[in-house]
Amino acid sequence: MTDIIDLDLGSARDGLAKKAFSALELARTHVQAMEDARSLNAIIIETPDRALADAKAADQRRAKGESLGAMDGIPIAIKDVFCTKGVVSRACSKILDGFSPTYESTVTANLWQAGAVMLGKTNMDEFAMGSSNETSALGPVASPWRRRGDNRPLVPGGSSGGSAAAVAAGVGLGATGSDTGGSIRQPAAFCGLVGVKPTYGRCSRWGMIAFASSLDQAGSFGRTVRDAAIMLRAMAGYDPKDSTSVDRPVPDYEAALTGNVKGLRVGIPKEYRVGGMPAAIEDLWQRGIGWFKDMGATIVDISLPHTKYALPTYYVIAPAEASSNLGRYDGVRFGLRVSGDNVLDMYEKTRATGFGAEVKRRIMIGTYVLSAGYYDAYYLKAQKVRALIARDFTAAFEQVDVVLTPTTPSAAFAHGEIAGDPVAMYLNDVFAVPASLAGLPGVNVPAGLSPEGLPLGLQLLGRTFDESGLLNAAFALERAANFTARAAPWWRQ
Ligand code: GLN
Repeated sequence: MTDIIDLDLGSARDGLAKKAFSALELARTHVQAMEDARSLNAIIIETPDRALADAKAADQRRAKGESLGAMDGIPIAIKDVFCTKGVVSRACSKILDGFSPTYESTVTANLWQAGAVMLGKTNMDEFAMGSSNETSALGPVASPWRRRGDNRPLVPGGSSGGSAAAVAAGVGLGATGSDTGGSIRQPAAFCGLVGVKPTYGRCSRWGMIAFASSLDQAGSFGRTVRDAAIMLRAMAGYDPKDSTSVDRPVPDYEAALTGNVKGLRVGIPKEYRVGGMPAAIEDLWQRGIGWFKDMGATIVDISLPHTKYALPTYYVIAPAEASSNLGRYDGVRFGLRVSGDNVLDMYEKTRATGFGAEVKRRIMIGTYVLSAGYYDAYYLKAQKVRALIARDFTAAFEQVDVVLTPTTPSAAFAHGEIAGDPVAMYLNDVFAVPASLAGLPGVNVPAGLSPEGLPLGLQLLGRTFDESGLLNAAFALERAANFTARAAPWWRQ
């Protein structure tokens, strides 16, 4: 039998059902893997006792023949952006030091309801602002992957870098992420995983620490499309506590994975061919197109003319919303307080000490674009462009069923390589951000290796609320690409 640590989520679930091993054995194996992988800094709070207790409860439910959830006995890791009751939740910001929520986010509550087992909280960019996990107040994450013949630590991507690194290192069978402008899809691409961001409104944002509320959306990481689909279904659903969550039934995404894409119309947007993109990424995109053709899909050239405005538009809207959302951290209600001579001094000292440089940059940009003199020129303008970007997709989806693009314009980079250049960092999200602005679902499928031996991914985008169709296309692509590479486990001493 395969070692249980090598099983993916779907196979572990089937193994539990067949009683090939117990949930407790599975949890113990993952707790050990978590301890062995500490040098990655992917998990910043470990909850091993909770994991073992959850697993024992899962075994008891099974032994008694009680009804079981879709994730019963499955160990997973939770991004620190989700509030977890009684477990410190701080979005990897110093300003939330010691904040232990008295409530559970809806997404994590749904996962526990489905029987999932909690291993711990994962590292992330501070308040999910970043593409490399280097803005975390808890230090950077080392990707399990390394360039061939080069031991320099690489970034796992961001902002859900800890979640991606954990799953890629075999710590947890899945992990939650949040994606505001690529934070699930980009780290999934860098770490050779499947990462899915559903339609805006599919998952509740209640109890998820806010970055940019009109863009933030929870999603899942898995080693396979099936894994990501099983987990997403358990997370999703209408929630009366979030007025932007949508009251539509959540289909069985796993059941939709037939792999049949005959007659599927796959759109190739010409605007995603950007200058300076490495040949390996262009080649991979062409291979992806070839695979879909071979599977009987129809390739359609499409145009999304406002694509070039997406990144600047995102970097007006996201900071604007962040500056407003982060106004609540004043040293009174949550986490850190640095005392001062008077209340104003206390606010200022708390915020100056508590927020990192990238967060401060976003707050300043955000307050600037929302200021009386510039609101029309920047914020209102950006909202109008956002509508045009969404309209491009609406028109495209009259001609096609899914859109295929590269996920990122490069493979993973080394720690410190571009951290000093915010614009270079922002450019990493050039292919991810348009779908976020349009609220569309998107998924990364690992599809090949760069010349240095690092994972590269292809992105599929789907129609609003058509996660089933999107994931089925991803399933077909996954089978065609047959990406089997795993990071060599250098972190296990
Ligand atoms: N990297 C992007 C940013 O820094 C997206 C982050 C995210 O999706 N949370 O804003």
